[in-house]
Parts: sequence; structure tokens; C-alpha cells
Amino acid sequence: MITRKEKETKPNKTTKTTKPTKPWVVFDIDGTLSMTIDPDEYETLSDDYKNCFEFITYKPYKNKDIISEAWVMIRPNVDILLKYTFDNFRVGIWSIGQPGYVDEMVSLIFGKNTKYYPEFVYNFTNCLREYHPLRFYKPLSESPAKDGYIIEDSIDVVDVNDKYFLVPRFDLYDSIDSIDSIDSIDSIDSIDSTEELIDLNTLINDDSLLILIRKLENLI
Ligand SMILES: [Mg+2]
Repeated sequence: MITRKEKETKPNKTTKTTKPTKPWVVFDIDGTLSMTIDPDEYETLSDDYKNCFEFITYKPYKNKDIISEAWVMIRPNVDILLKYTFDNFRVGIWSIGQPGYVDEMVSLIFGKNTKYYPEFVYNFTNCLREYHPLRFYKPLSESPAKDGYIIEDSIDVVDVNDKYFLVPRFDLYDSIDSIDSIDSIDSIDSIDSTEELIDLNTLINDDSLLILIRKLENLI
């Protein structure tokens, strides 16, 4: 019989594929794995853009009988990313969205392939709140993925103690700040923010998740 101690110290060729030794990655959803737009915004798009989106409904609040509608575009290469990460990491999801929305998104992203399913799914109710200024964030110390890596499009929600990988936000619009004139540093009115629809080919050929895989490869 092998005692626990012997088991740990005994060289084991299969260590890499044993679950507990794999590092954790915790994915954000919106802007990282997908983008979600509301029906009004969807209606402004031309058909070739519309064809990239899938329709979802969800109950944002458990105790209210409200059904919300939205359109979702899954980020290119999500399938490749998930196959890679599930083979090499333990996987969790942490979105700042409402529980009903997050559940719907998880079944849209993972439901098609039951082989891969995150070990935990956290939503807005799991986020921590900080004041002055108010912000919600996702400390991995409060999750099963302690010492893991957060995959995010926004640094604002990452805890200072956590390791992370930032990916460019997956979005329909590029925000372009143009400064017409600066009278004083406080003259915020002079900064004009315009939004430009991103070219369809750029969206379809987004390779941010392939670049992410190459970065994750350095960890294992
Ligand atoms: Mg996000």
C-alpha cells in the first residue's frame, strides 16, 4: 500500500494529466469569450453582421417574472481555446452578469459540447464590492481557483493579488477619442468620443484567443 506521502514524492509520469496538478484558468464571458447586444442595437446592423449573432432569452432576476432578449456573437476560435484549456487546465467561469444571464451564456458556449463543462460558474452575486470608487471585482481567493489565472478583457475587475491575462475586448465598436481643443485639463467637454463600427472581416478573423493559447502554453 502506498501512503499519501509516498504517493506525492513518487515520480509519476502521468502527473501532467492528473486533475489536481493542473493550474486553474477562470474565464470572463462578455468581451472575452463573446459579445452580447440588445435587440435595438441588433436591428441597426446589416444582414451580414446579423448573421453572426444568435438569439437568446433569459430571466435576469430569479424572483421576477421578466424575460429579457439579447443577441450573442461567440468569439472566433472559442472552440479551439476550450479544447486546449480543458485538456491542460482546470476551468472556471466568472462573469459580472446576473445569474440568469450567465447560466444562459454558459449553456450557449458549453452546452453544445458536453465533454467540456466548467468546474464552477460564478456570477454577479459572487463578486466583491469595493467603495470609493465603487467597483465590483473577482478575487480568486474567494473561489475554488485560488492561485489560478483570470482571463479578462477588463483589468478593473481583477484583484490586485491575482495573476491574469488580458485579451482585447471583443466588441462591435471601436471607441475613438478625439480631442478638439484643450483649454484646461478639466475641460472634459472638449474630448469627443465617437464609436466606429468594426469591419466585419476584422470581427470574423479575430485571433485574440489563438494568441491567448500561445501565452497559456508557456505556463505548462
Ligand atoms: Mg468582460
